[in-house]
Amino acid sequence: MTKRPCRYCKSEVTSPRPEVDFCRDCFYEGRTLNELFSQLIADIQRPAYWMHTGGGCFALEIPLGEHYMWATADQDASAPDDETGPWWLFRYDGSGDDEGKQLAAGLTRWELLYEIDREARR
Ligand SMILES: [Zn+2]
Repeated sequence: MTKRPCRYCKSEVTSPRPEVDFCRDCFYEGRTLNELFSQLIADIQRPAYWMHTGGGCFALEIPLGEHYMWATADQDASAPDDETGPWWLFRYDGSGDDEGKQLAAGLTRWELLYEIDREARR
């Protein structure tokens, strides 16, 4: 297999799949998801970024001071196929043993933006 550089950081791509043009580190940093969901992230109008939550799971994190929200495709903490969702939204108090509170389920893209904004203003 030909060596190829990661399109983000120029490290060598180790995936055996020829269509993959990003490295493992950039994948787990959420860079591919941040790019795929860049319009949604811009429309949230506050800091938001994908983070690896462990075990190959990802959540779109929206920090709120000590607290934070996670938006995911479902309770398994994965990313939806695209911005249209459906989205689930959770809030955590950041204490570590907090299991989180589900704020909303099955949201469209526009409902997600509304709920994030409303929760952030509380
Ligand atoms: Zn990389």
